[in-house]
Formats: sequence, structure tokens, C-alpha cells
Amino acid sequence: MTQWEVVIGLEIHAQVTTRSKLFCSCSTQFGSTPNSQVCPVCTGMPGALPVLNRAVLDKAIALGLATHCTINAHNEFARKNYFYPDLPKGYQISQLDKPICSRGYLDVEVDGNTRRIGLTRIHMEEDAGKLVHQGSDNIKGATHSLVDLNRSSIPLVEIVSEPDIRSAKEAKAYMESMAQIVRWLGVCDGNLEEGSLRCDANISLRAKGTEALGTKTEVKNLNSFKAVERAILLEVDRQMEILEEGGTIIQETRHYNEATNSTKSLRSKEEAHDYRYFPDPDLVPIAIDRAWVESIAQTLPELPSERYKRYQAELGLSEYDAGKMTINRETGDYFEATLKLGGNAKETANWLNGDISAWLNENSSTLITSVCLMNMTRNDIAWFDTVDGIHQGMRADISSINRPVTITKGRPVADDDIRIFWNSCI
Ligand SMILES: [Zn+2]
Repeated sequence: MTQWEVVIGLEIHAQVTTRSKLFCSCSTQFGSTPNSQVCPVCTGMPGALPVLNRAVLDKAIALGLATHCTINAHNEFARKNYFYPDLPKGYQISQLDKPICSRGYLDVEVDGNTRRIGLTRIHMEEDAGKLVHQGSDNIKGATHSLVDLNRSSIPLVEIVSEPDIRSAKEAKAYMESMAQIVRWLGVCDGNLEEGSLRCDANISLRAKGTEALGTKTEVKNLNSFKAVERAILLEVDRQMEILEEGGTIIQETRHYNEATNSTKSLRSKEEAHDYRYFPDPDLVPIAIDRAWVESIAQTLPELPSERYKRYQAELGLSEYDAGKMTINRETGDYFEATLKLGGNAKETANWLNGDISAWLNENSSTLITSVCLMNMTRNDIAWFDTVDGIHQGMRADISSINRPVTITKGRPVADDDIRIFWNSCI
């Protein structure tokens, strides 16, 4: 029996966090009234001219540097021509053969091993609008459809990997690592529920030991980490069954339905030449000099993988604790701010993993949204005097808010203080 090797490449679309769109000054605010954030440029009115948002460029360069890419001194926008009712211009402004970044990599931890996944390129592009189907969940069975162009021209970066991924598990780990980096850098808020981060997977099989790539299918609409893993497992099984029976794989685009955990064929897969790409004559090529790249390199924070290693080497944290303390930048920063106040590294990690994490879960909050907790580190921590004090204050709140609390290592704190403090957190 043939032994098959799974070959996967991922295309991750990340919405770049900016106040205004890619080529106009319309707001990018999520959830506004349909068509309230539009103008002649993003609705594709004839003669309206795009003007590039520099903040998107800066963030794309930052992401390229963090993923070891070459930042291309000369890059340009191209028109990707196709028709769809949510794309009034008849083309999407994207980048093809001259993207902003190329040839990088990301090291991903899978089952205790490091896997290096190559990046083909990172390019900038605009999003399309959105169709809202009436009378049905999808276009099938709908009585009519409405177009909302608020999302039209929202800035995206598309991160295209090499076909270096070998399993569904690796694909999930890679997407999680990429989500961690884009959030860490502030390139994207990583909010999968709102569609800020989504992914398409190119999947094929080949006989183990052979080099030539098999025919691939592209599975679209993967907007959770779980969906990436499950959809790939399904598609690998489907392809294997066909190949085992001596059949051939048809190159096509498939749609993943998370509710039914199934994929179905959407259309035969298109090639780049089907889109008749050409350089966009409304936008001049972008020249990026070394000083520009250097100025962005200066602002790059310590990356999660670097912190992960440092927390183990310098602070003696276990791999598990170091992973937890670098899960996002807020946790890492919070952890370090607490250490500066005299906490012991292991004790502080336990406290964040235990009481703080439980409290955040209980209140459906995160360190990012819990302004109160962030302020507590910055301003109010002295109130409790020591980490041990905060620990006890936190416990006191969770177990019995009315019980008078005495902080052993700090000054005594009245129960009213605790109550006011915690109520203001919720
Ligand atoms: Zn606009």
C-alpha cells in the first residue's frame, strides 16, 4: 500500500489594525450601520482615486521583519480583475509579483519539536464588501441579497506560506503562532469571531519519498484554529480515499462548513492568469529605502519566541510557564511589571495562571479588556504592597467580598476598599 505524505500551504488573511481604510479616510470600525462608512473611493465610483494609507505599509514591514522576510525596496500594487456583487470596481487592489515582503520563515513548536515553516511572501490588499442574504443563511434559497460596503477596502495583509506544513496539527500550530505574532506587533487584533484573521489551506498528497507535488485543493472559510485542523483532516481523508481507489484529484476550491464539519466543492480552482493582473495605474510603485526599514526595526518589541527563551534561561521558568507568560504581549508585560515590584518569577507565574486567570474567566474578561487590572499593575499595586498581598486580596474578593481582609505583608486593607476596587473591575 502507498504511504502518503501530506503537503499543506496556508494563506492567512489578517486585517491590519488601522483607524482608516487602505485607500481612503473612511473608518474601519466594526459593526456599524451598513454602508455608513463608505465614500466614492471604496465604493468604486468612476474617477475616484486611491491614496495609500502609510500606516498599513509600516505594519506590513514590521510583520516582515519579525518573520525574517526580505523587505522589497521596490513593490507595487496590481489590479486583480473579477466580478462579484460585493466588488463594485470590478477589481481588487492587491499585490502579485512585487509584494512588500518575501522569503521569510516562522519557527513553530509542535510536540516539543521546532518546525521551520517558510513564507513565500506577505502582500497588502484591500478587502471586498459583504453580501447579506435575506430569507436564508446563504445565497441558496435567499429571496434577495443586500450589499454592505463598510468592509470594502479595509486593509489586509495576506501571509502565504511555502508548502512546508506536513499535518493538520502543524497547520493549527502555525496559524496560532502567526496569530500570536500579528497580535504581539499590533498588526492585527487577531479577532477570529469578527473575521480579522482567516485562512485558506492548500492541501495535496504525494507518495512518501517523492518530490513532485500532487494536485492540490484549496479549502476556504477557515476562521477558527479548530476549523483549520478539522477541515484539513477531512480533506486529507477524502483525497486519500480517492487516490487509494486509483482516482485522480480535481484541482478545485472547496468550502468548509464548521456547523456540519464537512467540505463541498465550490468551483474549479482558478489560476493567477485568470485574473488578468496588471500594475494599478492609479498608484505609483512604492520605494522603501533602508532608513525607512531601519526606523521600523528600531520600534520592534522583543518577540514572543525570544521572550519564551529568556524566561526559561534567565528566570528559570519551565517551558509550560514560559509559554503561558508569553501567550500574548499583555500577559508578558503584566508579568514583568509585577516582577519589577518584587515578585518571585515562579510565584508570579502561578498567580497569573491561577487566581488572575480564574477571575478573568469568571468575568469573561481578558488582561487586554480589563483596564482595571492593567491600571492595578501600573498605579495601584503599591496599595497591596507585595505580590503576596495582591494574591490575598484577589482571593478575598473571590471567596467572600464582605469579609474584612488583612494583608499580611502590606498595610491592612479595609473590606470597603476591596469591594469598591473589584466592583469597578467588573
Ligand atoms: Zn472610503
